[in-house]
Amino acid sequence: MGVDLEAAEATKVEHVHFSWWCWTPLWKYAELVALHESLDDVEGFDIAWEVGEANDGEFIDGISAKILGDRLLTALDKGYALLAKRLHDEAQATLPMEPCKFCDGSGIRSDAVGRTVGMDTQPLDDATAILLGRSHGFCNGCHGEGQALAAITSYRFDLEAIREFAEFAVDSNGFWIR
Ligand SMILES: [Zn+2]
Repeated sequence: MGVDLEAAEATKVEHVHFSWWCWTPLWKYAELVALHESLDDVEGFDIAWEVGEANDGEFIDGISAKILGDRLLTALDKGYALLAKRLHDEAQATLPMEPCKFCDGSGIRSDAVGRTVGMDTQPLDDATAILLGRSHGFCNGCHGEGQALAAITSYRFDLEAIREFAEFAVDSNGFWIR
């Protein structure tokens, strides 16, 4: 799952892979950098941004890949990417918890998986029992608390991934998104 980027003619790295959790914010960030830098006005730059939302085998040409990669590296070096990461992370930290999908918010997982491994009758250790106010019943999705981080918080704004992508793009002579 995720995207595989295959370079047309690389001298260093021919292939990189990103999970959707990592790629989606990365590509959205790249689009914002391109917008901020008015890359659409730069001769030879031509990226239809929606192609990054699927792994359909679309091709990003070499000139566009080089321009985008260079700008992303500059934004990293200037600290803009770190700023964007902080905004992203702070926005995620303010999201409310959601009822755990494995136990419907009860804290006790009693679906087929939960029953098979005995989570629904599992004795709790003393500390957990005091915390949760019961002696038995666990859920591995929420540590028995019934609440879990919002699913959207799985999207990661990863500075290392941005650098990996940017360096790949600069050297790729164009790449396919698969
Ligand atoms: Zn749960």
